[in-house]
Amino acid sequence: MADEKSPRPAVEEVMIIGSGPAGWTAGLYTARANLNPLLITGNDYGGQVSITYEVENYPGFPEALSGPELVEKMKEQAEKFGLTVEYDHVSEIVTNQHPFVVRTVNGKEYKAKSLILCTGARPRFLQVPGEKEMTGKGVSYCATCDGFFFRGKDLVVVGGGDSAVEEGLFLTKFATKVRIIHRRDELRASKILQDRAYANDKIEFVWNTVVSSINGNGSVQGISTKNVVTGEEQELKTDGVFVYVGHLPNNDLYHGKLHLDEDGHLITDKKLRTNVPGIFAAGEIQDKVFKQVATSVGQGCAAAMQTEKFLAELESEGYPGVDVDAREFPSYGAFVPQVTEKELVPA
Ligand SMILES: Cc1cc2nc3c(=O)[nH]c(=O)nc-3n(C[C@H](O)[C@H](O)[C@H](O)COP(=O)(O)OP(=O)(O)OC[C@H]3O[C@@H](n4cnc5c(N)ncnc54)[C@H](O)[C@@H]3O)c2cc1C
Repeated sequence: MADEKSPRPAVEEVMIIGSGPAGWTAGLYTARANLNPLLITGNDYGGQVSITYEVENYPGFPEALSGPELVEKMKEQAEKFGLTVEYDHVSEIVTNQHPFVVRTVNGKEYKAKSLILCTGARPRFLQVPGEKEMTGKGVSYCATCDGFFFRGKDLVVVGGGDSAVEEGLFLTKFATKVRIIHRRDELRASKILQDRAYANDKIEFVWNTVVSSINGNGSVQGISTKNVVTGEEQELKTDGVFVYVGHLPNNDLYHGKLHLDEDGHLITDKKLRTNVPGIFAAGEIQDKVFKQVATSVGQGCAAAMQTEKFLAELESEGYPGVDVDAREFPSYGAFVPQVTEKELVPA
């Protein structure tokens, strides 16, 4: 796709999909490797970090900075070395031919020798009054990121799975009390986590209960709840609400095309390779464990370095084919999944 400012080649060397920390880092590294990369931002410019009030745990910024500020710095650095940015959203990728084809909602069509998929994930929201307004002001989706701000405070955690209980336990390092609010009368979390939570004096459980609103004026002061069995409504005072009712990978583009695990994350090996040679993935679209800016940045870097290697080998050896067993072409990427490989999820 050509425009007046920067004519694009007929076939891109590398396209990066997503403008979160993984995407910008992949852009920076591939730009500095002279690969003339093109990044498509997606509808959520800057990714999850752009809805973060303050980032205190990204190295190099001891004074902390806001999520949008960090995004602008990452973008500026990558553009300085030649990253081209398109404000568009990808509607389709074609992975069963090489070069790959990328189509966007603005009607553009690109061909690319390699792809770095950085489409990230999103927390599932409670969708109750007060949640959106007080995100970053007492409502959080990340205990590792925000727990530190709640020293000596009273907190609630919403959810009953592994994440809710694990993060609830983590929050007891800071909070005076943590109430875990769960819509059922038993947890879905693993037995070992349940045992730890039941043994922790700071944790209390509120069963069969849903949150109907988050209350406060600029910062969280309490929540309204409803018991789903008795219908009883209650007001609980609290200083913060941590929501763990699910984390959804942005995987619409990949169903039936790339290997996904049972939770819908792309399956990559340690070198960030998907099952199709030349398609790499970085950040939360393939990582459901660490979910941090720093780890997403690291994975964006690794995927970019691997892409560079792939393109050099492509030049000298040609493309092995989209439907061959990648293990027969070790230089292109012996595919060693980190988790149990599942069948392709049907489109
Ligand atoms: C409220 C909140 C606070 C947080 N605070 C911190 C913190 O303080 N410190 C910390 O380390 N971590 C924090 N995190 C976690 C951190 O933001 C994420 O780990 C990180 O943003 C993941 O980066 P990513 O690049 O993988 O993807 P994301 O940030 O999820 O970005 C995904 C990108 O992909 C794009 N995309 C999706 N689909 C398409 C498509 N079809 N076409 C084109 N683009 C697409 C989106 O537009 C978006 O730009 C926080 C998360 C949340 C939700």
